[in-house]
Formats: sequence, C-alpha cells, structure tokens
Amino acid sequence: MKIQFNDLSRQQEAIRQRVEERFKTVLDHGRYVMGPEIIELEEKLADCTGARHCLACGSGTLAIELALRARGIGHGDVVFTTPFTFIATAGAIALTGAKPVFVDIEADTFNIDPDQLTKVIEQPPAFAKDLRPRAIIAVDLFGQTPDYSRLQSIAQKHDLLLLEDAAQSFGARFGDKLAGNLADVAATSFFPAKPLGCYGDGGAVFTNDEQLYLIMKSIRNHGEGSHRYENIRVGTNGRIDSMQAAVLLEKLPLLDKEREAKQKLAEKYSAELASKYTTPVVREGNTSAWAQYSLLTENRDQILEKLQSAGVPTAVYYPIPLHLQGAFADLGYRTGDFPVSEQTAANIFSIPMHGYMTESESDFVIEKLLAAKG
Ligand SMILES: *Cc1c(COP(=O)(O)O)cnc(C)c1O
Repeated sequence: MKIQFNDLSRQQEAIRQRVEERFKTVLDHGRYVMGPEIIELEEKLADCTGARHCLACGSGTLAIELALRARGIGHGDVVFTTPFTFIATAGAIALTGAKPVFVDIEADTFNIDPDQLTKVIEQPPAFAKDLRPRAIIAVDLFGQTPDYSRLQSIAQKHDLLLLEDAAQSFGARFGDKLAGNLADVAATSFFPAKPLGCYGDGGAVFTNDEQLYLIMKSIRNHGEGSHRYENIRVGTNGRIDSMQAAVLLEKLPLLDKEREAKQKLAEKYSAELASKYTTPVVREGNTSAWAQYSLLTENRDQILEKLQSAGVPTAVYYPIPLHLQGAFADLGYRTGDFPVSEQTAANIFSIPMHGYMTESESDFVIEKLLAAKG
C-alpha cells in the first residue's frame, strides 16, 4: 500500500475541472497579478473568518511582516513568540529589524505558555532589556489555537499588539470564533500543504482595524498613496497572483468537508494509538484544523526508521527549536533555556493526515505504528 503523508492529488481530482476553467478566465482577462480573483478571494476569506478586512499577499512569511511593519515595529523593538514553530514566525520578526524574544510552550498543546509569557514580559532576557516590547505572535500550532482570551488580556495589560500566526489553522475554532479573527491581526499561509493551500505561494492578513488594514494594503504595493505611482512610505512587493487566487476560490468550498474528515481520522488515530504513544490534546471548546497530527514517543528516531521501512511516511515538525538555530545565534540563547520546547523537539513526529484517506489506509498506518512499538 502506498501511503501519502498529505495527498494533494486526490484533492486536485475533486476540483481539477473547475480550476482549469478559472485558469482559462485568468488567461482571457490577462490581469495576472492582482486581478479580479483577488478581490473575490479577499471578500470570501473575510466572510468565512468573520474578520472585517482581509488582504491577500505573496506568502505567510510576508503576511506576518506586513502586520508588524504596519505597526511600525522594527529596530529597537522586541516581539515575543515561541521557539517551537516554523522558522518563518521568528524570521519575519527579524526581517523587520526587531528581535524575537522566545517564550516556552505548553507540554500538551505545544502552544505558547501564557504563564511563561507573563514571566518573560516582566523579566526579559539581558539582550532585550533596553529594547521596546511591542508585540506577541501566538502560533496556532498544528491547527489548534492557544487560549486567546488569556493572551488578549496579557497583551492589553502590557500594551502589546497581539498577532495570530494562523498559517496552520485556517478553519479552526476557538469557542465559536474562527481562526484568523482571534487577535488584533492574523496572518495565514496558502503554501500547498497548509489547511487551505494554493498551487504556489500565497498568504493573507486579517484584521478588524481599518487603519491597520489600509497601511498593510499600502505596504503590500510599494507603499502606495492615493495611486500606484505616489509612494508615501517604504513598502514592498507583497502581491499575490491571480492564478493562486483562482485555485483558492475553488478549494475554499472543500474546506469544511476536509476538516470533518480529518477530525474523524484524528479521533480514530487517538483511540487506537493512545496505549503506545502520547496523542494530541485538543482543549475543550477548541476545534483543530489538523494541519498535522503529531505524536510523542521516546526513541523517536528508531521508531521512524521502522515506519519508513514499513511504508508509513512521517515528518518531524520541528527537530530544532528556534532558539538553538544558527539564524538566531546572536541572541545568545542556550540549550536548557526552553526545556519544554527542547523535549518536544526531541520526541515529536507527525503521521499521515489529510481529508482523503481511506479506512484501509488509516488501518494500515495504525497497524504499522503499533507494530513499531513491538
Ligand atoms: C508555513 C508557516 C509560515 C510561513 O508561511 P509561508 O507561506 O511558507 O511563507 C509561518 N508560520 C507558520 C507557523 C507556518 O507553518
């Protein structure tokens, strides 16, 4: 049996014809970048998250950067985030000139630990002592959101911007609110493997703050003013192309059904695997988008070798916590600074998870996972 980690070809089959028709429309109107598909997409994305404004852009990394830059965050500033995330979260902070200050995660949800966050804000590391604290980036890791009510009150108390990194959580819920609408501003990614992905790179920012929206919009297009050739601030090329928006418009209607299929698969995995592995915890009131289904185990590398020879693809998100990455060596963090992140990075792995897996495929994955534990 050939198991895919994330089977995008089955999804493509479901929409291929409609995507081809959309592509043909783009070829006909010829507005390849920022065409009418973008406006349609932004309206639909705002609608389905409940956020007042949505701005589509070139990538998830860029989306984070747009939000930070729009608030004037840069040199001399610090932004709090976790070291257990994809590099782009902290990379985008550094690209603005600000410094990331890391905060350890909760051992069960892998999301930022609000108690640790308060501690670090009140007692920042030496390199951050003379810098201005400006923002918190909370990451909805693997598709589950952290507790945004607690994070909002911490952000308010310390007068910090709260940014939701929703790259992995499109379609997730925190109570009755949707990911993308849980903080002052949210950033998501449409990289193909994300819960909502296009066939290239893309991203979006969401906010209810009109002022912030207008500044992000200006930065997205070289700091434009009242028209394209009036530039009132330094911006960038943050645009998305019409083909990617066309793909997303056809994928959006599949999202709920895919999420439900992933939820069922997650429940099946958890019921069958809990005796041998630490299975993911979804907090009461949360609905995960299941960007990843991640297990914890000792002797991970041996287990992964066995799974590979048994034909079960796996991935490790993330093997090196960001405070130990060469990219952030100048911050001076060391092994031992974030024990939960370090322990998690050593023991975690993700198994096949997508909305098109058959019963016999998931049975196969489960059988091999149980066998790998002997
Ligand atoms: C994928 C991802 C990003 C970056 O998105 P790109 O579209 O690849 O730039 C940022 N943060 C997290 C948590 C991600 O998973």
